Amino acid sequence: MTRFGAAVFALLVLAGACSATSPTPQPTSTTLAQTPTTTRAPAPVSGTEGAPGLGDSYYPDLGNGGYDAQSYTVAITWDPAVGTLTGTTSMVAIATQNLSTFYVDFGELSLIEITVNGAAALASKTDSSDINLLVEPTQPIAVGETFELVITYSGRPATIRSVALPIDAGWTTAPDGTSYVVTEPDGAYSWFPVNDHPLDKALFRFEITVPDGITAVANGVNTEMITDIGSNTWIWEGTQPMAPYLATVVIGDVVIVNDEAGSAQSGIPIRNVLPPELAANPPAALALQGEMLNYFAEIFGPYPFATYGIASVEGFQAALENQTLSVFGADIVRSGFFETVLVHEIAHQWIGNWVSLADWSDIWLNEGFATYAEWLWEENQRGPQARDALIAEAYATVEGLAPLAPGAPPPDDLFAFSVYNRGGLALHALRQEVGDDTFFAILRRYTDRYANDNARTVDFIEVAQEVSGIDLSDLFNRWLYQPELPPLP
Ligand SMILES: [Zn+2]
Repeated sequence: MTRFGAAVFALLVLAGACSATSPTPQPTSTTLAQTPTTTRAPAPVSGTEGAPGLGDSYYPDLGNGGYDAQSYTVAITWDPAVGTLTGTTSMVAIATQNLSTFYVDFGELSLIEITVNGAAALASKTDSSDINLLVEPTQPIAVGETFELVITYSGRPATIRSVALPIDAGWTTAPDGTSYVVTEPDGAYSWFPVNDHPLDKALFRFEITVPDGITAVANGVNTEMITDIGSNTWIWEGTQPMAPYLATVVIGDVVIVNDEAGSAQSGIPIRNVLPPELAANPPAALALQGEMLNYFAEIFGPYPFATYGIASVEGFQAALENQTLSVFGADIVRSGFFETVLVHEIAHQWIGNWVSLADWSDIWLNEGFATYAEWLWEENQRGPQARDALIAEAYATVEGLAPLAPGAPPPDDLFAFSVYNRGGLALHALRQEVGDDTFFAILRRYTDRYANDNARTVDFIEVAQEVSGIDLSDLFNRWLYQPELPPLP
């Protein structure tokens, strides 16, 4: 993510135990509920009950235990005139334990129907604001079994207040009527039921039905278009697993513009989603994405996805690296630092999206790396002196703020400035310590080892020590975990 600073520059910136032998429905639960609320509290976890979280040290409610989601089909019909969404989401998952009950994360839209393997299932919540929806299938699910959960729902999707910073996230409708989704680290559950943690990546297919004349875009490739009287269904599919917080749609009066030159240059089809006036007069830096993809493929390895591009939306004061389709606030696209943010979000496709966090406390692994990627691009384009000027500027900015160790930012200020700048400086300190050849070998081994997987800070340190043969614990401890800012590397 990239986030606007207040004034100067963008912060370069989310039961009674039901055993397998007693699947008796609880009388307070319901299969059909406009308000999925019961008085029953979540059951303590037993061997047959999936946990209501995945153990994230910062956000224990996010994600759920007991199964591994393989794929989602998110089929939604959006009526922009009245702001209502009707959805049917299918999640195919493999049970990682015997399950009499399990949870999915789901917001405040109204449930219409829930089935597991085609049979009606019970669903309940402690209260409507609770994100943990308890699902009780008619038949228990055995460990190793593949099962399909299908939930039909409807309502007016609303933004949620993020756990990580005081901003609204989730399904958002801009003043110009365009709807879009940005949800790092939480808020995917505001528009579909989900195992909402990067530890559970899955394949996604989106089927978005909108009125004629409205464009609907989501992550991945537009594989099909189904036309009906007065409406169209846009099918978008990803070819690689994705963390749920990176799922997005952009729906509105927007134009899909193919970047033919950038696509030819990089071998990656680049398509941007722009409002008509921007499509007619795009900023010059937008043409650099092909070159950026090539440059970072040299650093991090081949680009992992089937397509790339940005979507520009009004009213969003940041940018987010949604997989294959980064969502940019239009103010950033119009700004003088657009090129820098483009670099940042492209680098995240490898760092954050392909190599994902295992725990949100390690957010510097995403943001410090994406910040350092900005400096690498500057070095590549304008030379080491220009790079050093950016690094000195970043250091001076951090120096002027209260000390904050980027390896453990406050859970309610996850995207603190220091996570970006001091995280990037930590990588520069590493580069100074080990030399260029070893430094770039470390980056490459890290992205190779954790490709399409999840990593923690200890994993990166282990790779750095393995490649360099140097004990780097003191360097990382000073840069990441001690409040006091070390000298400029
Ligand atoms: Zn970022």
